[in-house]
Amino acid sequence: MSAFLKIPETKIPVIAEADLVVVGGSCTGVFAAVRAARLGLDVVLVEKLNMLGGVATAGLVNVWHSLHDIYEQKQVIAGLTEETLQRLMKRSGAEKLDGVSQYAVPSHYNLNPWELTYVLDQYVQENKIRLLLHTSFVQAIKRDRKVEAVIVSNVDGLGAIKTKFVVDATGDGRVAKDLGCPVYYNDLLQPPTSCFLLQGEIPVEKWSEIVKRHGTEYGFSDDWGWWGNIAGLKDISLRADLHVFGVDCSKAADLTYAEMEGRRQTMTYLEMLNKYSGEDPMRVVAFGSTIGIRETAHYKTRYQANGEDLLQGKRYDAPIMNGTYRVDIHHKNSGGITFRYLDGREVVVIGNGTQVLRDDWRKRKGLTGDPAPYYQLPFEVFIGEEYDNFIAAGRMLNAEAEAFGAVRVMVNLNQIGEAAGTAAYVCLHTDKALQAIDGKTVTELLRKGGSAV
Ligand SMILES: Cc1cc2nc3c(=O)[nH]c(=O)nc-3n(C[C@H](O)[C@H](O)[C@H](O)COP(=O)(O)OP(=O)(O)OC[C@H]3O[C@@H](n4cnc5c(N)ncnc54)[C@H](O)[C@@H]3O)c2cc1C
Repeated sequence: MSAFLKIPETKIPVIAEADLVVVGGSCTGVFAAVRAARLGLDVVLVEKLNMLGGVATAGLVNVWHSLHDIYEQKQVIAGLTEETLQRLMKRSGAEKLDGVSQYAVPSHYNLNPWELTYVLDQYVQENKIRLLLHTSFVQAIKRDRKVEAVIVSNVDGLGAIKTKFVVDATGDGRVAKDLGCPVYYNDLLQPPTSCFLLQGEIPVEKWSEIVKRHGTEYGFSDDWGWWGNIAGLKDISLRADLHVFGVDCSKAADLTYAEMEGRRQTMTYLEMLNKYSGEDPMRVVAFGSTIGIRETAHYKTRYQANGEDLLQGKRYDAPIMNGTYRVDIHHKNSGGITFRYLDGREVVVIGNGTQVLRDDWRKRKGLTGDPAPYYQLPFEVFIGEEYDNFIAAGRMLNAEAEAFGAVRVMVNLNQIGEAAGTAAYVCLHTDKALQAIDGKTVTELLRKGGSAV
């Protein structure tokens, strides 16, 4: 449609002024806000939903991966991720588990999403972060190379927040797009999943057998995913079995379709399982309040994370993140997943486990010697060329498909958030543009604040 409606000149009230506005309140955004606040910045945090945590809470995705290198020897992730796990464990809101299958990483943590939400609320209060829930970013106001304000919308109407620095932690890069920053989409765009809470269970083998035998008639022959427990809860599990293929969740029509299609899939899937299991019926207890979005746009910066550097564990002068999670790519248009581990293993699983292809990517590349125990991302992954006071942190980060498959997990993005808040502080403290600050200063401050980079 090419019709436009002109809005008469509007006066928007200034509702706040801040050193830093963080848009998006997942752990990425909250951790950016907490780091900046602990360094002394006055921070406003804006979140469009009723709770903090993003995919981890509203999307029900409750697994954080190992904090250690691939040998489970050296701790390589700490900072707010570790602090949050400690807080959660005190409340039985997280439990540590060892790897349970050939596809699992050595260890991981199951969280309770509602306990996590509560801990994030506490961070906001303790660090005097001014939080606006139910508040959506609408537009960024810029002058030359600076973002001067963000316009938000909530029950009070439109409001402007004047600011010296902006961190876009919206996942989709909503602010970056509005600012006209260069964004791109990977060809292998990973599909979303409607996660749900399930009451009841049937044996895993029976479950797989039913999908193999009857999946085709219900349209599920090819798809598979994962499931797990929720810390502190009995008899209820978290399921992430299916995918909505062929959608771009940064488009309103696709997102609406994906939400409804995700729920339809879930209900039909359970109808099939209940019909053939001969056990007590399993029931959906809840859907996430948002579909789990794996990937949309990426924001172009000076350094693009790529599989080569990442899997071979390239080291940097100014690292902002350490990670060990394998490359994990959910295939764009069919139910397959490719895993690539730092130690060389490559596993491609297709069709509910009916086809498992194994290879060694290190051998294929002729690599000898020890594998990298962990990988890193450099400070340059933050540096866009367009604005002096703007960073995008989260799954919109500059990463080609293979590297994105690994860095997209939360223990990694949590660190990206911490680094974004820290970099904002360094810019304001030194009165320099983002492009002019020394990344090593950011790394040093991250270490002082408890990070393991
Ligand atoms: C089904 C699924 C399973 C996964 N499994 C795992 C796993 O087991 N372990 C793991 O670590 N990772 C997993 N991931 C990946 C990981 O969860 C995500 O990559 C990560 O959570 C993304 O974090 P983010 O901060 O970039 O974005 P999000 O979590 O999407 O956060 C963005 C936040 O910004 C807010 N927002 C968006 N637009 C606006 C706006 N206009 N105004 C205000 N606020 C806004 C959103 O409401 C949200 O709170 C999974 C992902 C999915 C979808």
